[in-house]
Amino acid sequence: MKKDVTLKVKSKFVNKYRSGYPLISKEAIIHFNDGAEEGTIIRLVDEKDKFIAKGYVGKQNKGYGWTLSRNENEQIDQSFFVKKLKDAIKYREPFYNSPDTNAFRVVNGEGDGLGGLTIEYFDGYYLINWYSKGIYHFREQIINALKELVEFKAIYQKKRFDVSGKYIEEDDFVLGERGSFPIIVKENGVNFAIYLNESAMVGVFLDQRDVRKRIRDTYAAGKNVLNTFSYTGAFSVFAAVGGAAKTTSVDLANRSLNKTIEQFSLNELDYNAQDIIVEDVFKYFKYAVKKQLMFDMVILDPPSFARSKKMVFSAEKDYKNLLKEAISITEDEGIIVASTNASSFNMNKFKSFIDMAFKESNRRYQLVEEFSLPKDFKTIKEFPEGNYLKVVFIKKLR
Ligand code: SAH
Repeated sequence: MKKDVTLKVKSKFVNKYRSGYPLISKEAIIHFNDGAEEGTIIRLVDEKDKFIAKGYVGKQNKGYGWTLSRNENEQIDQSFFVKKLKDAIKYREPFYNSPDTNAFRVVNGEGDGLGGLTIEYFDGYYLINWYSKGIYHFREQIINALKELVEFKAIYQKKRFDVSGKYIEEDDFVLGERGSFPIIVKENGVNFAIYLNESAMVGVFLDQRDVRKRIRDTYAAGKNVLNTFSYTGAFSVFAAVGGAAKTTSVDLANRSLNKTIEQFSLNELDYNAQDIIVEDVFKYFKYAVKKQLMFDMVILDPPSFARSKKMVFSAEKDYKNLLKEAISITEDEGIIVASTNASSFNMNKFKSFIDMAFKESNRRYQLVEEFSLPKDFKTIKEFPEGNYLKVVFIKKLR
């Protein structure tokens, strides 16, 4: 076993950690020294050596590690993980019992007291995401805990770390019976093809579930919908199921074409009646302006950060301009669904980008409704930055 390390928290951070802030950052530590190995148990103490919390070393872009317990006597062993997973599973009971959804998140990192780890459920298959070497160090206890608590067809995993913090491609199968992919899961009655054996992106982002449902149930009927950064076209499929007159999906990645065709087909929708375009979104906007294409609904769901051949997109720097492009091709009284998963800014800042974009376009707007993470993506109030998803439905006024 590795020896524990004791880290002293600077006085101005002590209250924060005492009240449950989960992320251990270098800035909060006195005489920080990066000597400890990944997975080492950390004891946080105050300047008088009084215990604050226990955690582990697990380096991510976010910080140095995560706290796991504020009880000094708690051992971080298999029964600790059993307890955490049991609570997490109980909290998702409504999802396990849902007749029309069988894909959801079971463990949401620090929201479930297990920073650095997520577990998702896809119709009997569990997918574990390890976000650091440190959390991966506990894999045996965590996998055993999961085995103890649930029945499953198989467990798959993604190691979302290497030296540069990226995903390591390898065989992701852990145990059970290998799946034959795609497996078809259901979300609010709509089918999705899921590939647990490909890349870190398995086919759908579950955090947008409520937004997709709302688009289908309340907005899509009769509308001409543009879905940008469309990936496998999940928003387009929900819009089409909701009766959209037509959808247009735009994504730069070649894979998006076949994957989007597949998602439409799985739902008995004729993909030939839809436009599926492999192109840089910014180029597509120019094309749409030139051709005077206008849409009743424009969905913007870019990554926080993306590099394409010609440019770098950063949500924080470029979202305003992205909105201006969208505004120029949205019909009066049309809806822009502006979404971001960037944790570097909050909802107020996001709304300030929206406000600036409309002002600079000389257009008026109305904020119609907002979404953040769905219930299975549990967050805690002590860590508001964990609630990264911000989605705003904006009406472009006449
Ligand atoms: N909105 C999607 C998820 C988006 S993931 C959904 O709901 O499922 C981000 C996607 O943006 C990726 O598929 C990536 O290929 C695409 N992308 C990144 N930069 C792009 C660009 N400049 N133009 C078009 N697509 C881009």
